[in-house]
Amino acid sequence: MDAAHVESDLVNVLFTEAEIQAKVAEMAQRIEADYEGQELLLVGVLRGAVMVMADLARSMTRHVEMDWMAVSSYGSGTKSSGVVRILKDLDTDIAGRHVLVVDEIIDTGLTLSWLISNLSSRNPASVEIATLLRKPEALSMPVEPKYVGWDIPNEFVVGYGLDYQERYRNLRDIGTLAPHVYA
Ligand code: 5GP
Ligand code: MG
Ligand code: MG
Repeated sequence: MDAAHVESDLVNVLFTEAEIQAKVAEMAQRIEADYEGQELLLVGVLRGAVMVMADLARSMTRHVEMDWMAVSSYGSGTKSSGVVRILKDLDTDIAGRHVLVVDEIIDTGLTLSWLISNLSSRNPASVEIATLLRKPEALSMPVEPKYVGWDIPNEFVVGYGLDYQERYRNLRDIGTLAPHVYA
């Protein structure tokens, strides 16, 4: 794995930077329209949602606040561990607030369904989810994101915040990795 040539490890580009930017701008417009006249708190799920949060927030012309949570459900590999832990909690008291959780991908839905019930217990005015990507398995979970960028096949993807062993988050496109990376 040559860290100097991160893009050469991508075997298949699913979404280019331009496609991602257009999609995120479109999601931002819908969100702005839906929350018109309401105060909105965006809650990003670290670390994967950093890119989508940055672009989503900057696509908006309204005031928004941003806060962050870090939860762990995956190990360092590609399989869910099934255990969710809070690594970093919100700094904001969300009681009475309109909360929009911003995430980059929903796979099994385990992390977000846990997170939503955790946030709901803090008595927010509302909690919804915006995710750039969603995989098929999530459809069988009680997680219903209000905003979904794209539904994708059940493949492990990297780029635009998504990592494999903490690498590839800085790729501007989203794609799948060449088999030699996992070897
Ligand atoms: P879930 O709990 O929905 O199964 O997974 C949630 C987290 O697992 C995501 O926020 C992300 O960090 C990680 N994850 C799930 N699918 C993928 C994937 O295809 N690629 C990468 N890089 N991470 C993923
Ligand atoms: Mg995430
Ligand atoms: Mg990861």
